[in-house]
Amino acid sequence: MEQTLGIIKPDAVKKNLIGKIISIIEEKGFKIRAMKMLKLREEDAKSFYFVHREKPFYNDLVKFMTSGPVVVLLLEKENAIADWRKTMGATNPAEAEEGTIRKLFAESIQNNAVHGSDSPENALIEINFFFNKIERV
Ligand code: ATP
Ligand code: MG
Repeated sequence: MEQTLGIIKPDAVKKNLIGKIISIIEEKGFKIRAMKMLKLREEDAKSFYFVHREKPFYNDLVKFMTSGPVVVLLLEKENAIADWRKTMGATNPAEAEEGTIRKLFAESIQNNAVHGSDSPENALIEINFFFNKIERV
C-alpha cells in the first residue's frame, strides 16, 4: 500500500465541490486515512510550494492557496501517488483527459481544483507537513 497527499484547493472549496471530489476519490478505490479543512497562512503556502519559489507564478500561487479554506487528505491505495495524479489530470485543464477532476472542475492552470504529491519522497514530506500521528487512522 502506498500513501499520498491530496488537497482540494480554494477554488473547488468555494464552488461547493468537496463532496463531488471526495466521491470520485472513493469511487477510484482510495481509502481516506486522514482529512481536515484548514486555511493556509502565507508562510505555510510558501514553504509547501518552496520548490517553485523561482517560478514566475510563485507569488500568485501563494495568494491563491491562501485565498480560502482547503481540504487536505491522506489517501491510501496501491500505486496511490501515480493513480491520484492520473485521477486529477494534467496541471493545465485544457490538457487534462476527459473524466479527470481537473477536466471536470478546474478553472485555469493556477486554479486547478486539486493537488497531489509527485514522488514518494514528497508524499512523505507533505503528509508530515499536515498530519500528526493521532490524526492518521
Ligand atoms: P500540484 O503540485 O498542485 O499538485 P502539479 O504538480 O500538477 O500541481 P506543479 O508544476 O507542481 O503542478 O505546479 C504547482 C501548482 O502551481 C499548480 O497546480 C498550479 O496551481 C500552479 N501552476 C503551475 N504552473 C503554472 C503556470 N504556468 N501558471 C500559473 N500557475 C501555475
Ligand atoms: Mg506539483
